[in-house]
Amino acid sequence: MPEVLIAGGGPAGLAAAIALAERRVSVTVVDPGDCISQTRAEMLAHGAGAIMQRLGLGQVLENALRIKAVESVWGSAHLQSHGAAPGLGLHGWGVDRHSLSVAMRNRAMTMGVKIIKGRIGHTRKHDRGWQVDISENGTSRTATPSYLIDATGRPSHIARRNGATALHGPNLVALLWTTPSEAEPTMVAEATEDGWWYAVPSRSSSTIAFVTSAENAKRALSAPGTILEHAARTLTRIPIPKSTTPCATMDCRSAVLDRASESGWVATGDASAAFDPISSQGLFNALSGGFFAGNAVADAVEGDADAPMIYAALAARTAERTHASTHLQYAALPFDTPFWRERANLNFKPNRSETKAEEHAL
Ligand SMILES: Cc1cc2nc3c(=O)[nH]c(=O)nc-3n(C[C@H](O)[C@H](O)[C@H](O)COP(=O)(O)OP(=O)(O)OC[C@H]3O[C@@H](n4cnc5c(N)ncnc54)[C@H](O)[C@@H]3O)c2cc1C
Repeated sequence: MPEVLIAGGGPAGLAAAIALAERRVSVTVVDPGDCISQTRAEMLAHGAGAIMQRLGLGQVLENALRIKAVESVWGSAHLQSHGAAPGLGLHGWGVDRHSLSVAMRNRAMTMGVKIIKGRIGHTRKHDRGWQVDISENGTSRTATPSYLIDATGRPSHIARRNGATALHGPNLVALLWTTPSEAEPTMVAEATEDGWWYAVPSRSSSTIAFVTSAENAKRALSAPGTILEHAARTLTRIPIPKSTTPCATMDCRSAVLDRASESGWVATGDASAAFDPISSQGLFNALSGGFFAGNAVADAVEGDADAPMIYAALAARTAERTHASTHLQYAALPFDTPFWRERANLNFKPNRSETKAEEHAL
């Protein structure tokens, strides 16, 4: 049985697994998609170079698209810029999430990490560790790890079932289109009255997204052609997708847990704090947070009970700073409309209701 069980095999879970395996701690990752992501281009912030090398994933960056410019067109806030737009992160890499997941899964398995295709259900804490239910295709099994890492992304499955509260910023939904890769290695963001658009290229494809309120997203989905017609009339820098129907909708509001660790568990990546895509910090946070969470848990397994709490304090500080810089983008009020006014105050509110994974293919 594993010493450490990681729920979720996204970038955070796999980074934690690699760190634990390097410390020779027995580790198993459980993920319903076998740790493989769908194709989607994301911008990996420049600062991630060192952590990618440290995780043994330098080759991924060599194969990724180097983003040479970041442009933002920010309405009346006059943040029109070429190069380093505030809060958008400096130049980085256009990474295909599918390729990243394959590379991370291979790296983890080479280092002896065990991967189980399945979903974590109930967790029960006892004196010496945990009893955890894992289900897959109607069958279930039980694991008894001594420590749990919650890397389940926005649902924060383990943390929320063990006393933590998720705090959410105003609702925000992204409609995503995957298109052939753009010739220009540039990330572009452009504000409109009802939200903002971005386009990020990777070597294999580009992702174009409209980030808006849940209400606008619902309206847009009932008539996707209309939103693209409107986009074609108003956008100056974003290429208009050819397909009228987006390939996915995703919850992308800011979120943070009131605690990222307690006795026997640590949360990392989006499970601990999820960032608005305008920050371009989610992937970097998942990779670096996962690495440090894995090391903190390795310390705990070796007897240093304080290490996870120190990790949690650092994670909270990172979340605070990133949410503050995100807020500046909205407070700049590129348009004086309800969408921007409602988001100019970044109020985090507790949400105790169950969040199902809100990402779904249409
Ligand atoms: C629209 C959008 C655009 C974005 N663009 C960017 C960008 O350009 N740059 C950037 O840096 N960041 C971006 N992000 C953020 C980035 O995608 C996330 O921060 C990153 O994926 C977080 O990784 P993670 O491993 O924490 O979580 P995830 O990638 O969400 O992985 C969590 C995994 O846990 C699994 N899981 C869930 N529940 C369970 C369970 N009960 N048991 C077992 N497994 C479970 C899930 O299936 C999933 O595989 C964007 C986010 C969104 C929504």
